[in-house]
Amino acid sequence: MALVPMRQLLDEAAKGNYALGAYNVNNMEQIQAIMAAAQETQSPVIIQASRGALKYSNFNYLKHLMLAAVEENPDIPIAMHLDHGNSLESAKKAIGLGFTSVMIDGSLKEDSKTPTSYEENVEVTRSVVEYAHPLGVTVEGELGTLGGIEDGVGSGKVQLTDPDQAIRFVEETKVDALAVAIGTSHGAYKFKAEPKLALEIVRDINQRLPELHMVMHGSSSVPRELVEIINAYGGKMPNAKGVPMTEIKSVIPYGVRKVNIDTDGRLAITGAIRKVFVETPEKFDPRDYLGPARAALTELVVAKMRELGTAGHAGDFVPKTMKDMQDFYKDKG
Ligand SMILES: [Zn+2]
Repeated sequence: MALVPMRQLLDEAAKGNYALGAYNVNNMEQIQAIMAAAQETQSPVIIQASRGALKYSNFNYLKHLMLAAVEENPDIPIAMHLDHGNSLESAKKAIGLGFTSVMIDGSLKEDSKTPTSYEENVEVTRSVVEYAHPLGVTVEGELGTLGGIEDGVGSGKVQLTDPDQAIRFVEETKVDALAVAIGTSHGAYKFKAEPKLALEIVRDINQRLPELHMVMHGSSSVPRELVEIINAYGGKMPNAKGVPMTEIKSVIPYGVRKVNIDTDGRLAITGAIRKVFVETPEKFDPRDYLGPARAALTELVVAKMRELGTAGHAGDFVPKTMKDMQDFYKDKG
């Protein structure tokens, strides 16, 4: 079984100077697609679920689907991560389900909409770290706020991460990874013009805290080909725009180790299903459209794993257990 703490995957990515995609899931086909891509490219992988996804799947269904992925792929290191936890309670719930990593997004209040003060963010983040680390569970925090709204998460206001504050935040909370706001945005309608990431923010943080793993949310590229398929088969997504892969690749050398990808997967699935419905309206077996959706998502994730540099790294290391991580955090004090 290769269910591993996310911290190990990030540490290994830092050693190899690559990034991991963190792919959002709600159902079986998405999990199978991501695992097929990980197998094909021999990549370690982060599978993540938002609170909305867990609720949608009634918690236990998603848990067991993820565990099935672990069981079916003993040679692939997999981290199970909670995306945008909003409280200590949500972190506890995910850890209770067996997640090896949790995000506490203390940049927003529990309503996932109202920005918090720096002090409030430190307080809730620290409470999650104090609960998670003794259990060996990885913690991702967030400082600064992204634009856009996804799964009901987002203030709609952009506040880029302040590097001085980021250094202080990591020292005060002891998070393993930090989501930074550098100009990316949640959702499919991120930008009006071509986006430019604030490269100087990650470069500055990386220079002063080279061991910190940074995370980019809202990092789907919204590939034009996928949007065109959706629109060609009766969809309506004019002017959808994302972060070009070249921009994402430019921050990897500066400590960005986790790149969250949700929207692109949704686009691949939706386009494939629409195509089946329009081209063969007589079909009504869910496998006839969920199968192609799964194949389209696999193709997308294979490309991401290659571009982010994750491909080929599944066998680089011996998986750590949660007990190993408990000792690691104990030694660090
Ligand atoms: Zn996010």
